[in-house]
Amino acid sequence: MDILAYMTEHGHEQLNIVTDKESGLRAVIAVHDTTLGPSLGGCRFYPFESTEAAILDVLRLSEGMSYKSAMAGLPLGGGKCVVIGDPRSDKSAELFRALGRAVQQMGGRYITAEDVGTTVADLETVSETTDYVAGLSVARGGGGDPSPWTAVGVLRGIEACAEFRWGSRDLRGKHVAIQGIGKVGYALAEMLHHAGARLTVTDVNEAMLRRAEQALGATVVGLDDIYAVDCDVFAPCALGATLNDHTIPQLRCAIIAGSANNQLATPAHGEMLRQRGIIYAPDYVINAGGVINVASEVGEGGYNEGIVRKRVDAIFETVLTVLQRADAEGIPTNRAADREAKQRIADAKTRRQPQWAH
Ligand code: NAD
Repeated sequence: MDILAYMTEHGHEQLNIVTDKESGLRAVIAVHDTTLGPSLGGCRFYPFESTEAAILDVLRLSEGMSYKSAMAGLPLGGGKCVVIGDPRSDKSAELFRALGRAVQQMGGRYITAEDVGTTVADLETVSETTDYVAGLSVARGGGGDPSPWTAVGVLRGIEACAEFRWGSRDLRGKHVAIQGIGKVGYALAEMLHHAGARLTVTDVNEAMLRRAEQALGATVVGLDDIYAVDCDVFAPCALGATLNDHTIPQLRCAIIAGSANNQLATPAHGEMLRQRGIIYAPDYVINAGGVINVASEVGEGGYNEGIVRKRVDAIFETVLTVLQRADAEGIPTNRAADREAKQRIADAKTRRQPQWAH
């Protein structure tokens, strides 16, 4: 891969390759775009098979963060960090302190946070050597677990899709099929239950399934049966790439709206959904509640729950606008979202941005 050509084509500003001999740290930090504010994105700890695979991932993920923050109306750009290693055996306090030093040297252009393979405790070690960390515990002045906020944002997104499809955001009597009832999925299931929706769920975790059956009256189906459930809304809240050539022909829902990242196997699957008349709420627009919560910590005055709630509730309007534009232009919703996010960044380039403000 020609890294410089990729970065130029995708608009990346910076790539930092970081090593530390003593602790064995091998990491890559990418800053995609800082037009709207300092770049923010999680730190992924993963045993990448090669340095090139790690670089490609960090470049791809940092670009996604730019668009997610832009669509969430946050004064932040997109960045990401990957540490190459096995999170079960390669973590050490020294390694996280070395990573913190590298982040600190970037002077605030990149703010790190939790991601796959890292925990709040790891981030607290990182914060010993850098000021530029978000997503800390409530005890440390942070916003705590972002999952409940992600779930609220997904609910707002589902309401927006319902408004677009049926002319009302009321979910009473609607049937929602949820794939994955973990931290986000279960919180979403509870809110949908209270809103009067009927639930069908699947998960690999038997205990969670029993809980959903008993507490929420949910119907349980097998892992592969969730796609063919005859329902109003399908909410993927487990894995990425579940909307693909194999699953899309099975779907019998009117709407797809869930928290999982990278739900479309490829961007072309957005067009496949459009042709089938299924409304798809673009993943990074609907699942921004978590980043909104984390970002609040780095805003002026620190974490502010009232502002978080306002921004998360605004996901309703953002999703609705994306659906309306896509419909008016006859394009898939994922393309409409990408276009809007890029436009917001391009517009901001022509004016001066208030940085570090809520
Ligand atoms: P989680 O690990 O708590 O929940 C995932 C659930 O999916 C688990 O209960 C797991 O058992 C289940 N699962 C695993 N494989 C499955 C399969 N094949 N079929 C059905 N269920 C399966 O994770 P989470 O924090 O709830 O996140 C869910 C999704 O939302 C992930 O894709 C995550 O990247 C995304 N997301 C989460 C947040 C957040 O704030 N937590 C924010 C943005 C995006």
